[in-house]
Amino acid sequence: MSDFYHALANSAVGKKVFSAINLPIPTPLERFTLGDTSFIKGAVLVGAAENSTALDTIFANLKLAPAAQAHVLANAIASESIEAAATATHQTAHTYMPAPEDRAKFKALVFDATGISNTQELKAAWAFFHPVIRKLDKCGRIVVIGRTPETCALEQRIAQRGLVGLVKSFGKEIKNGATANLIYADEGAESQASSALQFLLSPKSAYVSAQVVRVRPAKFDGKKFDWQQPLAGKTALVTGAARGIGAAIAETLARDGAKVVVLDIPAMSEDLHKVANKLNGVALSADITADDAPALISEKAKELGGLDILVHNAGVTRDKTMGGMKEHLWDMVIDINIAAEERINAKLLEDGTLNKGGRIIGVSSISGIAGNMGQTNYSTSKAAVIGMVDGMVEELAKQDITINAVAPGFIETQMTGAIPFAIREAGRRLNSLNQGGQPVDVAEAIAFFASPASQGATGNIVRVCGQSLLGA
Ligand code: NAD
Repeated sequence: MSDFYHALANSAVGKKVFSAINLPIPTPLERFTLGDTSFIKGAVLVGAAENSTALDTIFANLKLAPAAQAHVLANAIASESIEAAATATHQTAHTYMPAPEDRAKFKALVFDATGISNTQELKAAWAFFHPVIRKLDKCGRIVVIGRTPETCALEQRIAQRGLVGLVKSFGKEIKNGATANLIYADEGAESQASSALQFLLSPKSAYVSAQVVRVRPAKFDGKKFDWQQPLAGKTALVTGAARGIGAAIAETLARDGAKVVVLDIPAMSEDLHKVANKLNGVALSADITADDAPALISEKAKELGGLDILVHNAGVTRDKTMGGMKEHLWDMVIDINIAAEERINAKLLEDGTLNKGGRIIGVSSISGIAGNMGQTNYSTSKAAVIGMVDGMVEELAKQDITINAVAPGFIETQMTGAIPFAIREAGRRLNSLNQGGQPVDVAEAIAFFASPASQGATGNIVRVCGQSLLGA
């Protein structure tokens, strides 16, 4: 789906006219391109509150980005600890002395806030960001790492919860295609933040802003991990993969090394086979609501040595306000968008065809978070996807299986192409990045959860919505 406003606003004439009349100019977002081996390129300024514990993780990851250069603010809080963490990983943290007139630009500002133990100490965030936030580059990144509030004593819990407001406000202030996100790590789980940190610093998270990713202790050890082919040896199944977001998910998981089974309804068989052929994958024509669908999927999984990654992407809308909603439209949306997923999960878990250490990833929607006029059936089904994540997380953790969901906002697909023009334009612009996302943006978030490196990330709902104003 093309975005005429975006193209016009970024043309030579359009730029002048749009700025003269104060219309937002959406910044073309940087996205991952094949062959990129450095998840971030450019200067990264690292800061920390006193007694923070994620600096080793931050520097261990920056070491994996050959095109990143670490910097530390001159005389900043905890600057000695920052330099020590850099030295411990054989890196140099260049000292940066901020001056309003200098032209320094930072691709990322990374702040370790895990040491903040009361609201007074939140000042450390001001001290770090105030002199440098205007120096964030185009499509720059802010990542704050905090301590999971629910695991803290009262004073620390209150202060740590404050970081959500900080990061959400950054998302609205920073402009130019930049994003701001927060990772909450349990004490002792700092190293499990690596996958989230790399994702949130990279162009793969182009349309993810103002989100919180929570990580808990897990067995993943990144020492011998291949970050370029994270899914090598894994088998994934993606439902609704003949087109749109599902096809992008399949492509992205295959790019990361997975063997992919793509599933869609028999009527989409031609498109489905095209996707499967392109990826050297396997096509499975089935309606997920059919009585035999769970058994069919389980059998296919068994043939392939079990599934490691199950992505419940298939979904439909049948929009009517409740007064005009026909019974069959209610039933259809609930059945496809959530009930079928429950039946498939139950069958695979019963048969043991979802491997230990596996991944279940749902596709919710911001409609499931905010509700939407004319979408009672859809919003109910998509909120229920969140319920599925919440409800299954602890039971699945016993088998090292993680469950998470992404909640897309306005993504440019045939589904959103069918929305009436005025509503479609509003959907595209009412977010901090002033544009719709691409299917690949959702796919990248799913690939992040699918990675073995994300073993500590479970129970998360991450919106891929450019910080949409809906339900924020
Ligand atoms: P799409 O309509 O382009 O693709 C959905 C695919 O699911 C289609 O190929 C369709 O044939 C398949 N499907 C439908 N019913 C099925 C069934 N019973 N069994 C098997 N396959 C079935 O939609 P999309 O925009 O790519 O959306 C993908 C997912 O993302 C959906 O769950 C949707 O609700 C969600 N989502 C999309 C947006 C957006 O802006 N596009 C926003 C929020 C959430």
